[in-house]
Amino acid sequence: MQRRALVSGLGLAAAGALAACTRDPGGGGAGASGDRRYAWKLVTTWPPNFPALGTGAANLAKLIERCSGGRIRVKVYGAGELVPPFEVFDAVSAGTAELGHGGAYYWKGKINAASFFSAVPFGLSAMEMNAWLHYGGGLDLWREAYAPFGVLPMPCGNSGVQMGGWFRREIDSVADLKGLKMRIPGLGGEVLARAGGTPVTLPGQEIFTALQTGAIDATEWVGPYNDLAFGLHQAAKFYYYPGWQEPGTVLECLINRQAFESLPEDLQAIVTTCCRAVNDDMLAEFTARNHEALATLVDKHGVQLRRFPDDVLRELKRVSEQIVAETAAKDPLSRKVYDSFKAFERKSAPYFAVSEQAMLATRSL
Ligand code: CA
Repeated sequence: MQRRALVSGLGLAAAGALAACTRDPGGGGAGASGDRRYAWKLVTTWPPNFPALGTGAANLAKLIERCSGGRIRVKVYGAGELVPPFEVFDAVSAGTAELGHGGAYYWKGKINAASFFSAVPFGLSAMEMNAWLHYGGGLDLWREAYAPFGVLPMPCGNSGVQMGGWFRREIDSVADLKGLKMRIPGLGGEVLARAGGTPVTLPGQEIFTALQTGAIDATEWVGPYNDLAFGLHQAAKFYYYPGWQEPGTVLECLINRQAFESLPEDLQAIVTTCCRAVNDDMLAEFTARNHEALATLVDKHGVQLRRFPDDVLRELKRVSEQIVAETAAKDPLSRKVYDSFKAFERKSAPYFAVSEQAMLATRSL
């Protein structure tokens, strides 16, 4: 019921914001194209209706339908229902589905620069990622990276800072990273490998069993809200922070470019504006639910909350800088994205030091 109220509230807010564009006669006119109806598919990398991630994709579908007055109907498929989780990008590229929802770092094997658009270890926070993408040139580069595949990306959700993950044994020093078999995707996984561990990429549904059976020693997933939903506390006792590997992970909506271009301009604006509404809403939901879930994990389930030791974080940060720089050197587009990302980070950091960071530091006074 609560979710229904939220979706309905979002629909009203977005509909208000969109009123001007739906009235705009410049968008191909309200005549012939206004009557055409579209039946779209949305495939996701998440388990069906998984909290915040899967439900975020479902919210996007409902919002597009509501804001378009039913002219675009969107049917949502959870991971494996239409295509396997890691084939979402290809499915949207091929037009098997018009929309997809996932995280750009899942496609780094295909597009080397992709990780920069989801999460960079020790990189930008959620606020800064949104700022870079929308006002710092990041989204233009993201579009350039996906253009050869006929896919348009839109930021469509953010987890905020993630947690460092679940460990079956404690991490007391850099030596404890050696031989550690951990589920950790993207650049974070490459960092772990350089630090002596063995990264594994697994879709969400497979994590619990892998951890419980000891097939992996550790896993990161998202944060308390999602980790509690998977029951990861039943498979490992130690819950580490901070999530150095994902300081503000952007989720994405993938849009088949041909399908998008077949829409009249008002519907195009509705699709992109709904993505933007979900982008904002998901971060708010994570922020609200994570603190409730953390309290449940610690107070009710006796989870042992641990901070990574400083020397471990220092080593991971040192290695991260190498890995990120090497990623940038792999092709000209990656170099261009890296330069833009780092330039933004350099400019953003001094301001954050005297704004967010300085303000949050006063909480421990
Ligand atoms: Ca993660």
